Amino acid sequence: MSAQLFTDSIRWGCVLHEVNNLSDHDPVCLCLDLSIARLSYDKRKFTARPSWFRAKSVHIDHYKSVLQSVLNKIVIPHDLCLCHDVHCCKADHVASLDEYVAQLTDACLKSAEVAIPFTRPSGYNGCIPGWSEVVAPLRDQSLFWHNLWSDCGRPHQGLVADIMRKTRARYYRAVRYVKKNKDDIVNKRIAEALSENRSRDFWGEIKRIRQ
Ligand SMILES: [Zn+2]
Repeated sequence: MSAQLFTDSIRWGCVLHEVNNLSDHDPVCLCLDLSIARLSYDKRKFTARPSWFRAKSVHIDHYKSVLQSVLNKIVIPHDLCLCHDVHCCKADHVASLDEYVAQLTDACLKSAEVAIPFTRPSGYNGCIPGWSEVVAPLRDQSLFWHNLWSDCGRPHQGLVADIMRKTRARYYRAVRYVKKNKDDIVNKRIAEALSENRSRDFWGEIKRIRQ
């Protein structure tokens, strides 16, 4: 940090002691008073799309019935259907055809929006492979004992402090384990998905690897 920033801009600062911090170092939190006229950055835009591979038969059935009712409301352009001129350039026929096609595609897209699961932004479900099975239970335990230890006035010694340290160490070890064995965990899942022929799980796993 520059000396000028240090002397002119810091309103207050503190050190954060967090149970979730796996490092030997503690982060310094600073509240800075800076006059910034405009701050902008480009964020990658995420567009949600229907996730057909995740759609189950109940979704497909729902999609069919919604699509059917939307299609029923579309008026078929009979004049257009009766025109057999393959080189037809009549402006009203072209416009009518465009309109009809737009209505049909719109009907499919809108029905999917209602009935089919949609894709989520990458990392939305916190996808560290193995987290929910291996780490989450130990993290819950660690948080429980950390809170209890906090409530006891953060003692340096004693049973609660010991258990807090032990559960925290187990939680950190699990995090290191899933990070180190990320590829093995994914490979194992793919092998399981393939052996049980669960094609959707298989593609889900492939997607996770690509993220
Ligand atoms: Zn025509």
